[in-house]
Amino acid sequence: MADAVDLTGWTHAYSGKVRDLYVPAEDPSGAAIFERYGDVVLVVASDRISAYDHVLSPGIPGKGVVLTQLSLWWFEQLAAIVPNHVVSTEVPAAVAGRAMICRRLTMFPVECVARGYLTGSGLVEYRTNGQVTGIPLPPGLVDGSRLPEPIFTPATKAEYGEHDENVPFAAVADLVGRDAAATLRDLTLAVYARAEQIARERGVILADTKLEFGTDPVTGQITLGDEVLTPDSSRFWPADEWEPGHAQPSFDKQYVRDWLTSDASGWDRAGDAEPPQLPAEVVARTRDRYLEAYQRITGSPLVVPEA
Ligand code: ATP
Ligand code: MG
Repeated sequence: MADAVDLTGWTHAYSGKVRDLYVPAEDPSGAAIFERYGDVVLVVASDRISAYDHVLSPGIPGKGVVLTQLSLWWFEQLAAIVPNHVVSTEVPAAVAGRAMICRRLTMFPVECVARGYLTGSGLVEYRTNGQVTGIPLPPGLVDGSRLPEPIFTPATKAEYGEHDENVPFAAVADLVGRDAAATLRDLTLAVYARAEQIARERGVILADTKLEFGTDPVTGQITLGDEVLTPDSSRFWPADEWEPGHAQPSFDKQYVRDWLTSDASGWDRAGDAEPPQLPAEVVARTRDRYLEAYQRITGSPLVVPEA
């Protein structure tokens, strides 16, 4: 899919690594949207895939549809726990399946991460000081270990191209205030607990996940935004293959990461060069993983409309 498409009634406002945001246009068709829905954004998930803070090429066909449909499924599962930003899925045909009309939130500049298992940046930090974002953990944990209880390990959102930085809870409190920080932590852990349980019933371990919240300017409520519990924002592991002590097989983009850092790609992660083009086989296998994640978690196959 082209990155910026012409959507009647909507004006392109922002593009992140994966999503494109549109707001009602300053014309009669945009005014009609505003009249109908109020202050909304059209959140469009593209097929772009990022790894190691680079947007890779080519994209993964259908990935944006998987992200959006899985997010919508989760928003519904979690509706009793936290309000979310979804207003409507009646979106322009050009972005059918991959977009949702959402309340425009004032986003907190915090990546709200919950971890029930130790891996990734949490493991890296644990190996240096036995803690993750200032939370002390028992000794002897290894890659993939289950934590004694799920923990909130926030990160501050980095500028485009920079790494997000894990920070202690106190830094979040400084940034957004103590009350909001406590709410973000409590909601994040509540969402993780429920989602972990749902995934487990389907044979999937939710190792960790990243949520983004914002304030709804109309209601003043802290509201769950962005995408939720997708393979881009979460680590999903097949439960029957879980074995702490090494990297776990996963339904996320680990396959792409592994290829990029393998000799086959020829890419030097530490250097300045852009990553190489993804071979067709890597694209196809990655697409299969995203589709399988959707099917395993929701219990139904996903039909991806033709681009
Ligand atoms: P960045 O935005 O820092 O580039 P990213 O590459 O992860 O991060 P995307 O996920 O591609 O960005 O884009 C989604 C953007 O939209 C994020 O900045 C996210 O915070 C923002 N966002 C998500 N939901 C809403 C909402 N309801 N209202 C306003 N902004 C939102
Ligand atoms: Mg994002």
